[in-house]
Amino acid sequence: MARPYNFCGGPATLPESVLKQASQGLFDYQGRGYSVLEMSHRSGVYDEIYQETKAGLRSLMAVPDDYDILFLQGGATLQFSMVPLNLMKPENGSADFVTTGVWAEKAAAEARRFGTVREIASSKDQNHTAFPNLETLAVNPNADYLHITTNNTIYGTRMHSALPTTAIPIVADASSHILAEPLDVSRYGVIYAGAQKNIGIAGMAVVMIKQELIGKARKETPVLLDYGIHAAKKSAYNTPPVFAVYMAGLVFKWAQALGGVSALHELNLAKAKLLYDFLDGSSLFFPLVQGPSRSLTNVTFRMHREDRADAFHEEATARGLLNLKGHRSVGGMRVSLYNAMPLEGVQALVAFLKEFEAKI
Ligand code: PMP
Repeated sequence: MARPYNFCGGPATLPESVLKQASQGLFDYQGRGYSVLEMSHRSGVYDEIYQETKAGLRSLMAVPDDYDILFLQGGATLQFSMVPLNLMKPENGSADFVTTGVWAEKAAAEARRFGTVREIASSKDQNHTAFPNLETLAVNPNADYLHITTNNTIYGTRMHSALPTTAIPIVADASSHILAEPLDVSRYGVIYAGAQKNIGIAGMAVVMIKQELIGKARKETPVLLDYGIHAAKKSAYNTPPVFAVYMAGLVFKWAQALGGVSALHELNLAKAKLLYDFLDGSSLFFPLVQGPSRSLTNVTFRMHREDRADAFHEEATARGLLNLKGHRSVGGMRVSLYNAMPLEGVQALVAFLKEFEAKI
C-alpha cells in the first residue's frame, strides 16, 4: 500500500528508507541479534552510533570545531530554561528577544524567570504574519544573549534578513527549519532544535553550542540542565535517548546521500514555490504570509469558504493527504514541507487543491 503524505507540523513525516532501516534496527541491529532499544548506552556499539550521529550533523551543517553538539532530552522546550540558566549572569542577567510567535513568547516567558527580558522586535501587531527585519536592530551590548526563533512553525514565517551586528551571543531556536536551508552556525552562540520535525523523532533536542559558552551555568542549576555536564559526559550523563540518537544518525546519512543541506534547500525552494504559486493565484485559498517572510517548511493558508472546511479535511484525508489543519491558535490550514516530504507529495496536494477549488 502506498503511504499517505503526512503534512503534520511535528512529529513529522520521516524518509521511507529511514523507517525501513530503523525497523530493521528495532529488531536486530546489524546482525547482532538485539535491538537498538536493548543496547547499553555504555557499550561500544552505542558509542559508535553516537559518534556517527554527531559527525553526521557536524558535516551537514559545517559545525565549527570549537562548537559542541549535544543530544538532550526535554525537547526544544527545555532549552527555553537551559539557555538562561547557562548563559544569563546570576546577578542582573538579561537577554534581548525577538518575539515572532507562540514559541518565541514561551521562550521569553521562561527566560524572564531568571533575569530581565527586553523585547527588541516583535511581529505581534501583524498577528505574526511577517518577520521583522533584524539587520538594523539595536541589540543591548550588555545583554547576555539575543534569542531569535528563526522559523515560526505555527504562523509560517521565517527570518529573512541578515542577523543584527552584535558582539553578544545569538541563540536560535531553529526547530522547524534546521537542515531545510543553510544556517551559518559560526554566527550563533547556540542553535537548538527539537528533533521531531527535520532530524528524527520526538524525545530529543539537538544543541550546537560554542565551547566558550559552556561551563558557566548558575550555581543552583540542576545537574541535568547544565551544558557543561552534558558536554563533559558526551551527552550521556544519564541514560540518553538512544533510539532518538540512532534515528537522527540515519536521517543525517539520508540527507548527506541526497547532497546535503544545499541540495535539500533547492528541493525545498521548489516545493514551497509550487504551493505558494498556486495559493497566490487561487480564488478559493489565500496564503497568510507574504513576501520574504514566507517559511519554506510551514505554509499557512485559509479558505474564503470556511463553511467548506470540514469537507476539505475529510476529502483530503480520503486522498491520503494528512494533517492539513492549522495550529489551533491560528486555524485554517498549515502544510509542513520538511525535508522528508517529497516533491510528489506537494504535487499531489496542489492537484487536490485545484480540484477542490474547481468544485466550489
Ligand atoms: N520551538 C519551535 C519553533 C517549535 O515549533 C516547537 C514545537 N512545535 C517547540 C519549540 C517546542 O518543541 P518541543 O515540543 O520539542 O518541546
